[in-house]
Amino acid sequence: MFYIANEDDIRNGRVMDVYFERASQILKAKGLSKYVAMEIRTKGLPAGWEWAIFSGLEEILELLKGKPVDVRAIPEGTLFAPYDPVMEIQGNYTDFGSYETEILGLMCQASGIATNSARIKLAAGFKPVFSFGARRMHPAIAPMIERSAYIGGCDGVSVVLDAEKIGIEPSGTIPHAFILLVGDTVKSAVYFDEMIDKEVPRLILIDTFNDEKFEAINVAEALKDRLYGIRLDTPGSRRGNMAQIVKETKWELDLRGHKGVKVMVSGGLDENKVKELEEFVDLFGIGTYISNSPVVDFAMDIVEIEHRPFAKRGKESGRKTLSRCKECGLRTVSAYPANTAACRACGGGLEEIMRPVMKNGRIVADLPPAGRIRDHVLNEIKKNSVKEKR
Ligand SMILES: [Zn+2]
Repeated sequence: MFYIANEDDIRNGRVMDVYFERASQILKAKGLSKYVAMEIRTKGLPAGWEWAIFSGLEEILELLKGKPVDVRAIPEGTLFAPYDPVMEIQGNYTDFGSYETEILGLMCQASGIATNSARIKLAAGFKPVFSFGARRMHPAIAPMIERSAYIGGCDGVSVVLDAEKIGIEPSGTIPHAFILLVGDTVKSAVYFDEMIDKEVPRLILIDTFNDEKFEAINVAEALKDRLYGIRLDTPGSRRGNMAQIVKETKWELDLRGHKGVKVMVSGGLDENKVKELEEFVDLFGIGTYISNSPVVDFAMDIVEIEHRPFAKRGKESGRKTLSRCKECGLRTVSAYPANTAACRACGGGLEEIMRPVMKNGRIVADLPPAGRIRDHVLNEIKKNSVKEKR
């Protein structure tokens, strides 16, 4: 058997911490099911992040569909910071409280992956970045991982099923295993060029046997202008100064008239390594750093019971909303419904970004395709990086 929850298990709330089941059982028996508002936010972000990208909303609405609840949320792909409310669910506690384990699980990991993907895209100076790390994670969640990586800013994903669910073509090059079986890099490149659909870019792995520079030249002479690029996945033990290897390889290719050949680097890359290489490299393949991103520790807490503010110690009670200044982008948390005060920093007009997405179990918001959420993320991080530089 596979140790996974299937769609029915999830829809029926079976991925539930048992204390919710016990609490619901008692509340129902004692007639204590009350109407509540529960708010979701995080008090801190992992890995020194100052902001994160909200992801997982579409699946949460899929889970809550048909249940007697109202939901407000910020759009998927929106940048947020600690203490910003990202979602609010209202309804009878016993109708949705026991779904807390699943609701948080659907957003904590997805948001972590989308955030790291966005951070890599920034580190790469917005050059193309590809998600190659599905293999480090359980295959049952590969589609969620690569959707989150894609909306966070990756330009492509490697897994066939994941790409299909996103609605894009999968991206990839050539595995070392294929080149070892053919026994020669140039021959492998020629076979690839012969056999594979002309639409697929000829991006050839050149580090299997020999020095990167000489192998790149050999492949370029064999494929001529059909060669789109070369990939260096050089193991750590042979890597040396990667930036220098890339520079030297490009120099030699340029000198021989192969100026347009792109260089992709993959293998053990993180934000710092991408930053170091960004000037010389054209494309990046990122594995574990994105697929194994830290999770965002969202918590879901009661802020109102029977329409009266009520919360645990350490938590501001009452319903809240998140607005953003149309001029400077500063986020403001205020009581809901929002008063229409101006931005405290610049006096600009505020736009409420936490909006109704579900009414009595019916989805009332636009659920954009992954590509549009990705555009939103790229826009968010561009605006934010301009602000950070000021
Ligand atoms: Zn402002």
